[in-house]
Amino acid sequence: MIFEWLIIGGGIHGVHIAARLIDEADVKAENIRIVDPGKNLLERWKSCTETTGMGFLRSPSVHNLATEPMSLMALAESLDVPKSELFAPPYNRPSLQFFNEHCARVISRFNLDTLHVQGRAINAKMTCDYSQIELCSGEEIFAKNVVLAMGASEQPFWPKWANNGGDRVHHIFDPKFQGMPTKRESIAVVGGGISAGQVALRLQKQGNEVHLVSRHEIREHQFDSEPGWLGPRYMNGFSKEKDFNIRRKMITHARHRGSLPPDVNNSLQQAIICDQITRHECGISNLKLVADGICLEMNDGSTLQVERILLATGFATNRPGGGIC
Ligand SMILES: Cc1cc2nc3c(=O)[nH]c(=O)nc-3n(C[C@H](O)[C@H](O)[C@H](O)COP(=O)(O)OP(=O)(O)OC[C@H]3O[C@@H](n4cnc5c(N)ncnc54)[C@H](O)[C@@H]3O)c2cc1C
Repeated sequence: MIFEWLIIGGGIHGVHIAARLIDEADVKAENIRIVDPGKNLLERWKSCTETTGMGFLRSPSVHNLATEPMSLMALAESLDVPKSELFAPPYNRPSLQFFNEHCARVISRFNLDTLHVQGRAINAKMTCDYSQIELCSGEEIFAKNVVLAMGASEQPFWPKWANNGGDRVHHIFDPKFQGMPTKRESIAVVGGGISAGQVALRLQKQGNEVHLVSRHEIREHQFDSEPGWLGPRYMNGFSKEKDFNIRRKMITHARHRGSLPPDVNNSLQQAIICDQITRHECGISNLKLVADGICLEMNDGSTLQVERILLATGFATNRPGGGIC
């Protein structure tokens, strides 16, 4: 059988595109398939966000997976739950739990679970009439249109110095992440953005000795890119650019990488002032395994010894799905 559409990646974008194809382009669900290695759609989104301990999204309620931007607000109106439990100011940012509940309803409304083929696309061949996508299982799927929605969530960024730390060093977005401490420990969280801040706060609340190591000053931004990117103001120029390498550079340049919104920054500052989190603003040059832990050698010549390192250094900024930029 040749499907009308094959979406590679069942994350935030893949799921939304499937909903749009069905709801707005009148594509019949049975003519669509979504390939994703997760047991369920949105698996990477859920595990990455759960790890950080974040309570609320950074983005406003209109950014959701339904085809109608006000859909999340409409769901909130229909529930007998105080708005303050579902949203945080400013910009009505939904709680992670409520956002995920809304995602589940979008998936259920369009029966997207039934379109999910659990697998990984590893090869593609084109003919004049269709594409032939090979999965790692050996199975092949034929489709007239293919959407690549592979994201970057399988490409956690590891600084070079972090490679020799054995099982004392973990990346919080590693697909197999099992690095949270099970007893009180001294932990260095490495990173300067929102996830580093959230993980540091989560570990501090659990009673750990937390060091937050960032190579730059705190950068406060409400969003991780200017809202103009969601409309014609910036998107018109972007859409006109046909060179994918230049597009990728535009995306990298547009993002406020390593930034925190005011609410996370305020909580962090509070914890720093109260000596509950120690912040180190310095690059790291090396690490050494020592008898009962790990020793970080900083660029300014100082050292920091901890039992565990959690990298919150984000994702590699190459293309979604990997490959050169
Ligand atoms: C902790 C955290 C908090 C965030 N908070 C927000 C927020 O508040 N607001 C916001 O707008 N954004 C937020 N983001 C960013 C948001 O998660 C990403 O922009 C979004 O997930 C990108 O969606 P995507 O579908 O492109 O990629 P992903 O969500 O990464 O999904 C891609 C999927 O493709 C799969 N895949 C990869 N390769 C293949 C292959 N070869 N074959 C088949 N499948 C493949 C992956 O396994 C994955 O399931 C947050 C990100 C993180 C990590």
